[in-house]
Amino acid sequence: MKIAFFDSKSYDIDSFNKFKSDNLKFKFFETKLNPDTVSLANGYDGICVFVNDTVNSEVIDKLVSYGVKLIALRCAGFNNVDLKHAYGKINVVRVPDYSPYAVAEHTLALLLTSVRNIHKAYIRTKSFNFALTGLMGFDLHGKTIGVIGTGKIGSIFAGFCKGLGMRVLAYDKFPNKNLDIEYTELNKLFEASDIISLHCPLNEESYHMISKNSIDKMKNGVIILNTSRGALINSEDLLEEIRSGKIGGACLDVYEEESELFFEDNSDMIIKDDTLALLMTMPNVIVTSHQAFFTKEAVSNIASTTVNNINEFFENGSCDNEIKNCPK
Ligand code: NAD
Repeated sequence: MKIAFFDSKSYDIDSFNKFKSDNLKFKFFETKLNPDTVSLANGYDGICVFVNDTVNSEVIDKLVSYGVKLIALRCAGFNNVDLKHAYGKINVVRVPDYSPYAVAEHTLALLLTSVRNIHKAYIRTKSFNFALTGLMGFDLHGKTIGVIGTGKIGSIFAGFCKGLGMRVLAYDKFPNKNLDIEYTELNKLFEASDIISLHCPLNEESYHMISKNSIDKMKNGVIILNTSRGALINSEDLLEEIRSGKIGGACLDVYEEESELFFEDNSDMIIKDDTLALLMTMPNVIVTSHQAFFTKEAVSNIASTTVNNINEFFENGSCDNEIKNCPK
């Protein structure tokens, strides 16, 4: 089988090359997949893509016309794939579970960094500025955290927060009765939480769930954590409410318009996204570049599961990790 990888980085090449064999040949393209680059997939049996590749209807039709049989996502989320259009034309598999701990731990790292001003202290002490003014934080113990989405990642993160002595409130479209978590309605979570952390998928329903309308319901000084998908938050509203002081801090591992910027070194570029540029200037905003998944364990699991998915699909014509349901 010949598999074309898009948006390939050195760490992808290293982790996947361990699995290449006479039967499984990989070609790594640096470019992202989109309508302009999809022709590179011509002649391959399958393609392997990541979170910021564009798998829209135009791309899917071209893939099908080239005889590509499989879209293997080397990630869990699939909001970048037009599943409805793919249904019945081409198979889509993903890695549902590679290390929820990686993402939950990164979320906790962001939270602790934010509330104890570690990001500011790190820069200050590098130049021997040991003053404490402006670094006062607050105890997490006793605070209320609202966790939206209590699947694999959200439930682990909620457990961490309980360990810190926080009250955990949760909202999930499908609450898990087996979890020892206090579920509530979304609006009640907005009203009661000192910190809100997003762990639900991006879909039509969750798009911009954090916007002016929902922020108005939140406590003054609320801290927002997003390690899920950028478009869960209306970034312009977020910026406005940070400027007004309503939002006390934001930790973003993902950003609405990240696809052209994240995973690349843009340090010598003029950033044309004014919203991101302004967010970055705020002392209470911490941005990481979609790195929550990025641990040795997770990257290794992503490669092994993706290769298993590809082998299983081409051997059996189906795969346990196939995204089978056509969303409405
Ligand atoms: P999961 O499927 O195990 O859990 C998602 C949970 O969200 C489920 O319990 C589901 O019922 C719930 N949900 C669905 N729609 C909802 C809605 N509209 N409102 C509230 N809850 C809703 O997924 P997971 O493995 O925990 O991953 C969560 C998200 O994290 C993924 O969708 C992905 O976007 C993101 N993610 C980010 C990174 C990263 O590196 N930053 C890595 C992996 C996953």
